[in-house]
Amino acid sequence: MAQALVDAKSQMGYCSICFHLSAEPVCDICKSNSRDLQTLCVVADSRDVIALEKTREYRGKYHVLGGLISPMEGIGPEQLNIGPLVHRVNQDNIQEAIIAISPSIEGDTTTLYVGQLLKPFTKVTRIAFGLPMGGDLEYADEVTLARALEGRRSLD
Ligand SMILES: [Zn+2]
Repeated sequence: MAQALVDAKSQMGYCSICFHLSAEPVCDICKSNSRDLQTLCVVADSRDVIALEKTREYRGKYHVLGGLISPMEGIGPEQLNIGPLVHRVNQDNIQEAIIAISPSIEGDTTTLYVGQLLKPFTKVTRIAFGLPMGGDLEYADEVTLARALEGRRSLD
């Protein structure tokens, strides 16, 4: 059992573009031509991509940060996929970056940090959570998430 888990993990890598879990160097979402190429949804981890995909509401691309900024746990911006995100937004002429990170101290710190970096290049919005503080994206039901996406607001 433990060995099987190790094997599954070693076959699973990350998409080289969006950092979503992927067995291929580029994931299916990044490969897709039928998605909106100029909208990018920024999430903390791959589980959030899966949760948002379930809503079927979002048709843009994603960028997975791989965690949240947490001074308490010694996680700084340089340990997350933030550099590649700024590069992507710049290079791909992204029209809107939607930050979909649930509210918490770490979540808000990360949202503000990323928002400030992206603002010179694109419109930055944050999804409107009807979730309690610390409520996780992945536990939100599809309707709540779809509404949060619809009600997104400009980050100030
Ligand atoms: Zn990808």
